[in-house]
Amino acid sequence: MSPRPVVTRFAPSPTGFLHIGGARTALFNQLYARHTGGRFLLRVEDTDRERSTEAAVAAIFEGLSWLGVTPDAEPVFQHARADRHREAVMELLAAGRAYRCYLTVAELETMREAARAEGRAIRSPWRDRTPNEPDAPHVIRFKGPLEGETVLNDLVKGEIRFRNIELDDLVLLRSDGAPTYNLAVVVDDHDMGVTHIIRGDDHVNNAARQTLIYQAFGWEVPAMGHIPLIHGPDGAKLSKRHGAQAVGEFADMGYLPEAMRNYLTRLGWGHGDDEIFTDAQASAWFDVTDVVKSPARLDWQKLGFINAHYLKEADNDRLAALVTRVLTARGETVPAEVVGRLSALIGLLKEGAKTTLDIADSLAFVLKTRPLALDERTQGLLTPETRQRLARLQDQIAATPFEREALEAMIRAFAGTEGVGIGKFGPALRGILSGGGVAPDLATLLLSLGREESLARLNDALLREA
Ligand code: GLU
Repeated sequence: MSPRPVVTRFAPSPTGFLHIGGARTALFNQLYARHTGGRFLLRVEDTDRERSTEAAVAAIFEGLSWLGVTPDAEPVFQHARADRHREAVMELLAAGRAYRCYLTVAELETMREAARAEGRAIRSPWRDRTPNEPDAPHVIRFKGPLEGETVLNDLVKGEIRFRNIELDDLVLLRSDGAPTYNLAVVVDDHDMGVTHIIRGDDHVNNAARQTLIYQAFGWEVPAMGHIPLIHGPDGAKLSKRHGAQAVGEFADMGYLPEAMRNYLTRLGWGHGDDEIFTDAQASAWFDVTDVVKSPARLDWQKLGFINAHYLKEADNDRLAALVTRVLTARGETVPAEVVGRLSALIGLLKEGAKTTLDIADSLAFVLKTRPLALDERTQGLLTPETRQRLARLQDQIAATPFEREALEAMIRAFAGTEGVGIGKFGPALRGILSGGGVAPDLATLLLSLGREESLARLNDALLREA
């Protein structure tokens, strides 16, 4: 038999935001599909009508599209396939692999206690009983094997064995005719041609039950790889207190999608010591069998390092749009004069920034309007002697081309002519040009402000009463 073409899928339940753990699962599925020349599909598991929301569906789509992990076909909505699920259950029923169970809640509870005491899963007496009143309220249960083992050859975790006696006859169809989660997953994965299931390891137990359902249908069981969850930096399950969980939060914190893809790929998987790799390299190298068995920890420093790399590579016009959004959200107005220069400014200032928020912060001095309020330190530096020196420097600034080398040379030469170190006037000039606070080096400051604004700020300060 020739192997089936690889089909992977991401199957989120739309009950909340897109968690970065889910996003990484989606990414791994996409990478594995690309690695093998297969297809990556998306299925929205909205079978649970009470917990699924439209808003969550939208959040998942938005998160995935931001991250660039989009499926190779239209998404499948599980709920829309309920008729097919019911039909499949009837097939199992007809084949004697499922049965109608009329146990009441109270009866079930009593049986559960007895079963627990004996260390086995409950078995309904209706497994082998024919109902007198077939239409009385009932569920349809899977008729699981009573002996033997179910073996999962997990692509990540290796072999895992389950004793069938411990796996109960799970409900396939509820009394209201609604299909259950494990049944729907199996039927959908089969119908979608899924060959490889890569998902969180919270589904390992479901894998055993699902394997039994596949076998009952006589369908080929897909390969499965269960990946460990993402933990916080402290090793505990990732939660609110670790700073962020949702993909959207990382976007709001100023991370770029390509950085996030790179980082998430590296989280729990690696290619030697490579920290930075392209999408093409990731899909060439990625194999689910190389995913590590222990939980990966979120590492903000590494994420910052990777994001800084992609910020450096990113087109400055694109960053300008992102930074404008950050500034607008902060209620800052970007003066018309700066709007046109924003990309150029970002080119000057993005060095060392870890996020687009850092870039927005670094623009603070540019966005100040004249006359600037000078901080105390700068005021203290403005002695009569320094003022006179800065007045002389003003002439030099007016006469020098606004290019980095020329400005740097001018500052050095000026210090030479004055017979002092740059420390005698540099800090005062920085304070005057930036208004104090975090600011780049002098040449970058001058270049960022431009000649006219630099001279005007200097003039404001020198005219001020001593
Ligand atoms: N819908 C399940 C979840 O969001 C995933 C099911 C699966 O991948 O098989 O946890």
